[in-house]
Amino acid sequence: MLLDDKIVKIREDFSYLDEQKLGRKIIYLDNAATSQKPNCVIDAVSDYYKYQNANPHRGAHYLTVKATEAYENARSSIAKFINAKSSDEIIFTRNTTESLNLIAYSYALENLKKDDEILITILEHHSNFTTWHYVAEKTGAKLKIVYLDDNFSVDMTDFENKLTSKTKLVSVTGASNVTSCMPDIEKIVELSHKNGAIVVVDGAQLAPHKKVDMQKINCDFFAISGHKMLSPMGIGILYGKKDILDNMKPFMYGGEMIEYVYEDYSTFTLSPTRFEAGTMNVGGAIGLAKAIEYMEAIGMDNIYERERQLSEYAVSQLNKIPYIDIYYPQNAKNVGSAIAFNVKEIHPHDVASILDNFNIAVRSGHHCAMPLHKYLKINASCRASISFYNTKQEIDEFLTHLEDVRRTLG
Ligand code: PLP
Repeated sequence: MLLDDKIVKIREDFSYLDEQKLGRKIIYLDNAATSQKPNCVIDAVSDYYKYQNANPHRGAHYLTVKATEAYENARSSIAKFINAKSSDEIIFTRNTTESLNLIAYSYALENLKKDDEILITILEHHSNFTTWHYVAEKTGAKLKIVYLDDNFSVDMTDFENKLTSKTKLVSVTGASNVTSCMPDIEKIVELSHKNGAIVVVDGAQLAPHKKVDMQKINCDFFAISGHKMLSPMGIGILYGKKDILDNMKPFMYGGEMIEYVYEDYSTFTLSPTRFEAGTMNVGGAIGLAKAIEYMEAIGMDNIYERERQLSEYAVSQLNKIPYIDIYYPQNAKNVGSAIAFNVKEIHPHDVASILDNFNIAVRSGHHCAMPLHKYLKINASCRASISFYNTKQEIDEFLTHLEDVRRTLG
């Protein structure tokens, strides 16, 4: 298995996984909720506050210049990581949710009107659902939903049928946080652009696991949460094409994003500062840049391949257990590493609690995807989400204790 020889060393980078130091063992399979953070990221954030802390872009003294440099270097690293054309296309936000709201408020509310259509899929996380409910309610646009094929993946025929000349905005997940389906976003972008629609990709579950290339995908917007990719919480990214961003209204108003302020009106800078009102999370940006450096040193292809192999193994074993229902695309070319399942006749919260007795952390509930659960005709599910730093032994322990669940509830 790829990275197997390096995994012991990699795990040493994560104090959270260090049984000896912490006096407890945990099998962390809730990586889709948030990933653990390597020590180099924690140190980068701590060093920033210890030695470099100042408010960037505000003043001429040495520390503010250094802080500005560190913040802007982080922006450049992220631009390079996702192959944006320029770092002006990278806006720092708090998380994917804020990135999607920025598009809704600054682009969609200004550009959509009654009878226009917004197209999303049933896979979407609530942050990519409720945002468009709001835009539809405010503008009179209609929200249309694309459903799934039998393999828990986006039904492309349904997508093509629902994409019309009225569709002005398509917003799709790059990878589902429940079924792990990775829709063919390049195809979705191509078809949508042909119809004159702009495309938003919710990259929260894609960017941490697979190499993404903005110029290749050619989407108009792409949203990322740092905390799901080894970084601190409270830092996220919105990528947007520069010509679109520069024609959008600001999202929030205040310091840093202005050009001139007169008594009765103000003018604003272009992207990215236009969308970064107030003091930003500089430590978070530096942590995110360090996380990217860390992931790139391992190699995004290696990360994807290891997670794919671990999840393929877990799924093949789960498939053998007759009382498990699993909601995961089988034999998909591209697929994520979050595995949603149910133990027949047992509530997912009970399953998660019993696993927790063995220090195995899995998520239970609707995973902020209620419409998807309703569509799958279930109220909730368990989700084991795997990261490259997990091991086959951990998966085996998870499987062993999962078999105990039924015995425990007798
Ligand atoms: N989109 C997807 C697919 C997610 O999995 C999540 C979080 O779980 C989000 C969006 C929202 O991310 P955040 O809470 O970091 O804004």
